[in-house]
Amino acid sequence: MSAFNVAKFGGTSVADFIAMSRCAAIIENNQNTKLVVSSACSGVTNLLVELANGVADADSRAALINQIADIHHAIIDQLSEPTQVEKQVHAILDIVTSASEAASYQSSHKLTDHLVACGELMSTYILTQVMVERGINAVRFDIREVLRTDDNFGKAEPQLDEIGSLAKELLVPLCQNHVVVTQGFIGSDEDGNTTTLGRGGSDYSAALIAEAVQASGLEIWTDVPGIYSTDPRIAPNAQPIPEISFNEASEMANFGAKILHPSTLLPALRDGIPVFVGSSKEPERGGTWIRQEVESAPPFRALALRNNQTMVTLHSAKMFQACGFLSKVFEILAKHKISVDLITTSEISVSLTLDKTDTSGGAPELPQAVKDELQDLCTVKVEHDLSLVALIGNQMENRGYAKQVFGVLDDFNLRMICYGASDHNLCFLVDSSSAKEVIQHLHGELFEK
Ligand code: ADP
Ligand code: ASP
Ligand code: MG
Repeated sequence: MSAFNVAKFGGTSVADFIAMSRCAAIIENNQNTKLVVSSACSGVTNLLVELANGVADADSRAALINQIADIHHAIIDQLSEPTQVEKQVHAILDIVTSASEAASYQSSHKLTDHLVACGELMSTYILTQVMVERGINAVRFDIREVLRTDDNFGKAEPQLDEIGSLAKELLVPLCQNHVVVTQGFIGSDEDGNTTTLGRGGSDYSAALIAEAVQASGLEIWTDVPGIYSTDPRIAPNAQPIPEISFNEASEMANFGAKILHPSTLLPALRDGIPVFVGSSKEPERGGTWIRQEVESAPPFRALALRNNQTMVTLHSAKMFQACGFLSKVFEILAKHKISVDLITTSEISVSLTLDKTDTSGGAPELPQAVKDELQDLCTVKVEHDLSLVALIGNQMENRGYAKQVFGVLDDFNLRMICYGASDHNLCFLVDSSSAKEVIQHLHGELFEK
């Protein structure tokens, strides 16, 4: 294990000049931090996704590109030596202009990745210069040289062996004498095309890089002082969690706690790298340590919420006491590369939710071709505007916890309850319109009393 510490800064942590200066101060405070992984400046990826989805009207396109340019210029204007960075950022803005025009004719996942990667490519030029101007020996590195992925644009799969050897060859030597500033979220396939790991993927990038350089620690700097018992934006009485296990934190991330990308903890877990989550705005407030072994294992640890759920219900009388129905269903879904998230079954129907974490955003859709094939087997009902609420904890199948949970939710319409399959969670769907209220209510009952 190297003595390197890897620090990741999210969008709000690099939103403006003051925020970037705070990141630099955090780096100055830990001489072991040799690698900095940065997101795009706050709001930029959303604007780029909008352009990538295709904006036909040239004036509207120009207005969006101007917004992106303004965010970066506002920071560049505060640099002592802006000239070089300005040129570099303008070169990327030219790519944004041409790629968004191309997307207005025909968008594609490949073009989307090429375009949305521009956010991280720009922010890292500026962040490096902010650090250099404070006297840090910082150097920008294009992570596409190391973060090799497959060509599943929008949600590319990292190629771990190649990343490991490329990092040893190109990154580790550079870290000996520099603080290396690089991009989260993006990578490249073997043909050199730019790929992305899915929205929020910078956390995952940082963990992959930490694993590849065998880092001693990974810090995720964001806009909240650690992981809370639920999203503090939803429940203002949410409590910070000083220490949490990899298992619990993974469940939280998988069930939608936006604080961490769902895959982030896999690389850290593989290598036993402790992860710290804290606020770059208030580093002195401390944060959450995620470790393999922790002292407490409370029955209820946290509540997570994932919006934009699509539920598909397949109903067939033929399913009753028949073999092979589910395998046929999954054969069709697998053939069309539809990833299923949750599933519950009864005698004559099966409900499932669709997975979606790629870069394009929005609720997952069941493509018409899949619907047509499924309809040869059964009736198909698709429902949107649902949210998944997950209660994360330990040994949840025991001791009548379900009664405690559902007992306080009488007033809400709960759908598709999944309980008992995992020791660490209990989850259910609710109408999106009542999701926040359900979280607030459950939090009040289970965490505040
Ligand atoms: P970044 O841009 O730094 O990656 P994100 O917006 O992706 O930041 O994640 C941080 C946000 O995650 C917080 O502002 C908070 O609203 C949200 N969040 C969701 N669940 C939790 C939780 N359990 N604890 C803390 N923050 C949470
Ligand atoms: N900039 C990307 C996003 O907004 C990746 C990240 O911030 O983690 O999704
Ligand atoms: Mg994030």
